[in-house]
Amino acid sequence: METLLSKQESKFTSNISVEINGCWLWHGCVDQKGYGRLHSFYTSNVAHRWAYERFIGPIPHNHQCHHMCGVKGCVNPSHLEALTQREHSAKHPQTRKTHCPQGHPYSGDNLYMRTDKNGHTTQHCVVCHRKRNREWMRGYKKRKLVD
Ligand SMILES: [Zn+2]
Ligand SMILES: [Zn+2]
Ligand SMILES: [Zn+2]
Repeated sequence: METLLSKQESKFTSNISVEINGCWLWHGCVDQKGYGRLHSFYTSNVAHRWAYERFIGPIPHNHQCHHMCGVKGCVNPSHLEALTQREHSAKHPQTRKTHCPQGHPYSGDNLYMRTDKNGHTTQHCVVCHRKRNREWMRGYKKRKLVD
């Protein structure tokens, strides 16, 4: 008799192809981000998370699956690593821009960092910031003269 799990498994494996580098590429539905989607009879609707839980073990609460191979559509559980959100974002460092849109360097005296109320820090160019302030002042003075 076919158990639910073996049904899930055979359906799952019919949706993958094994690549030379060992990746299991998902051929079923994918979400907007490119991750494999599963139907409702699975315990997870994300294909690689289901594979991890099926073949490796439960994903600890609040953990995310990181693709060590870097292939989003890969569902090979041995290419996955369960990480906390913090550990995970450390694996995907945001590449910081080195220059502002006007080409001034984001470094030394020209760089100032601002942290908003959500704790996100953004880089600002001092030259451009001063320029904007000057322009604003000029407009302000003009407006005053007209009044
Ligand atoms: Zn892979
Ligand atoms: Zn990742
Ligand atoms: Zn600038």
